[in-house]
Amino acid sequence: MRAELLMIGTELLLGQIQDTNASYMAKILAEAGIDLYWKTTVGDNPARISEALRAGLQRSDAVLCSGGLGPTVDDITRDCVAETLGAPLEYHEDLFKVIEERFRAFNRPLSENNRRQAFLPRGAAPIANLNGTAPGIIAETGNKVVVCMPGVPHELRAMFDGVVIPYLQWKYEVRSTIHYRVLLVPNVGESRVDYAIADLIESQRNPTIGLLASPGVVRVRITAKAPSRETALAMIGPVEKEVRRRLAGLTDAIDVEQ
Ligand code: ATP
Ligand code: MG
Repeated sequence: MRAELLMIGTELLLGQIQDTNASYMAKILAEAGIDLYWKTTVGDNPARISEALRAGLQRSDAVLCSGGLGPTVDDITRDCVAETLGAPLEYHEDLFKVIEERFRAFNRPLSENNRRQAFLPRGAAPIANLNGTAPGIIAETGNKVVVCMPGVPHELRAMFDGVVIPYLQWKYEVRSTIHYRVLLVPNVGESRVDYAIADLIESQRNPTIGLLASPGVVRVRITAKAPSRETALAMIGPVEKEVRRRLAGLTDAIDVEQ
């Protein structure tokens, strides 16, 4: 299956906040064996959010959205999903009761705006928010799905790990996982490391090999996709050995990143 991320929030485009939700989701998706091919960031603009949703639904199975589920006027994600899917928003009294209960539990005043959070596109299911008040949304359309999560990182993470990942793995019968090992090559230039293993990087498909240079250290990442962690690690083993053999002449201080 193919997933893509749709990060919603003008603050992201203004550089006012770091998009930690995207890097978090990307990492977990990889570990869960779900391919991620696109990431889009849009501001709180209905036309552009809808355009990004439409494009995402054309090229991916699941569009995973972050942000814009709050009670204020600039929180328009649910409206855009409803419009794009042609599934009008419907009020759910039982969901409002849950939201009310969450506000009581957090000792926060509930305003009339919060009623907006009890609306779901027709046919969609809510995702319980264990760390906040705004429920998430799972809106299926044909064999595709739009998932919406709140922008607040610890709220998003709980939903993503607890519900979204298991749901996607079940719905799309994902049976593989992705694992990697990162070798730390100190005090050798990136070009020398690249020169030593370029043919491996080019020819390897599974595991794949990637290089990431930072001051004083080059990271060689060996990534395998397999039905189980054990198999993935077994596939990484021989490639790691060959990489180490190639680099032995450059340094003997290769470490594994923990
Ligand atoms: P709320 O109910 O708080 O309004 P929301 O679902 O509407 O939540 P946003 O208003 O988009 O989400 O974001 C709420 C806060 O979450 C932001 O002010 C920001 O601090 C944080 N946040 C939003 N998006 C991201 C992101 N992509 N990465 C990290 N933090 C984010
Ligand atoms: Mg908001």
